[in-house]
Amino acid sequence: MKTGARRHATATDEGSAALFERIRDFLLDQRLSADPRHYQFAYRIMTETDGVLARSVQTLTEGGFRLTARDIEKLGGEAAVAPPLSVVPPPPRAPEQRHESVAAMPDAAALADGLIARTQAQVAGFSDMVHAIRTETEDFSRDLAASADAIHATSDVDEVVRLTSVMLAHVQAAESRLADATVEASELRVALEEARENARRDPLTDLPNRRAFEEAFARAGAGRPIHVALCDIDRFKSVNDRFGHAVGDRVLKAIAAALSSACEGHLVARHGGEEFAVLFVGVDRDEAVATLESARAQVAARRFRVRESDAQIGAVTFSAGISGTSRAEDLSAVLARADALLYAAKHAGRDQLRAG
Ligand code: GH3
Ligand code: MG
Ligand code: MG
Repeated sequence: MKTGARRHATATDEGSAALFERIRDFLLDQRLSADPRHYQFAYRIMTETDGVLARSVQTLTEGGFRLTARDIEKLGGEAAVAPPLSVVPPPPRAPEQRHESVAAMPDAAALADGLIARTQAQVAGFSDMVHAIRTETEDFSRDLAASADAIHATSDVDEVVRLTSVMLAHVQAAESRLADATVEASELRVALEEARENARRDPLTDLPNRRAFEEAFARAGAGRPIHVALCDIDRFKSVNDRFGHAVGDRVLKAIAAALSSACEGHLVARHGGEEFAVLFVGVDRDEAVATLESARAQVAARRFRVRESDAQIGAVTFSAGISGTSRAEDLSAVLARADALLYAAKHAGRDQLRAG
């Protein structure tokens, strides 16, 4: 990098600067690390904006969704993802570790792959152990039979003592191997449960994710009223633009927590990007609307500020669409209605909800 000598801006410099800005924004938006592989991927998207890759990325990220490592690889790019973990327990979910970039945190699928490999290895280990124990037992039986003969023939007590202590040592070794294997099996069970849970949880907000939402909708009891709401933070891009992504993340987490506590008893999920979905089961339309309206008012009443600099972010609001459904209907159909209502709420000035 040059220092000192003053550089004169040229048209090419400006073109490069603009391209660099777009690549940087893309990497930040997608929370991809500044790895050359990510850069190259973004470069292709930004320099061939009408290309197949750019259009696929546009489709996948519409609505604020982030690409997964798998998406990137499917699109011919390379994601700088850490190799699958070989350790059993997933990393503890300390608050600051929750929103790692794709590059820093192996996704739930990679973790599950690691656990499956561990489980397979353990099953193989179990069968080896059972085989070894059986072989040893057979050896004992032979030795014991021989020693019984020896006792009859020679009353060789020393031989009996020797065989007994050898046998004891073998039994103890087998016991301890079994105990280790049992501990490992129960650790694996816990890790598998956690992996299952993580696959249904959004790491940034700690809310259930879209998959958990879909499963809860599919399980929602027959004969009970069901309402689905979609909430989208208003002008959230401008929070990122003015205060940076890290602050945007914190605001997102705060709104997730506020929404979830205002809708306590109902499932609040991060549906993607700055969008949340709420599933109201067993309450009538008026109650679902009133709960959501109260959540909206609580969020709108808050004033956010940047912790470090004390800079005022001000109010951050959300708009929502809510629609009733029945179990017979597909989730996608009710979501489409809620989305249309959300769009109407945005159109009417934001910070409001529309029910239908
Ligand atoms: P609107 O009121 O029309 O919804 O405006 P908007 O700015 O919220 O909508 P837009 O779809 O233009 O932008 C959504 C922004 O949300 C862009 C994206 O960078 C940001 N976003 C999505 N997910 C995250 C995230 O996990 N963290 C941060 N910091 N920003 C996110
Ligand atoms: Mg959105
Ligand atoms: Mg928005």
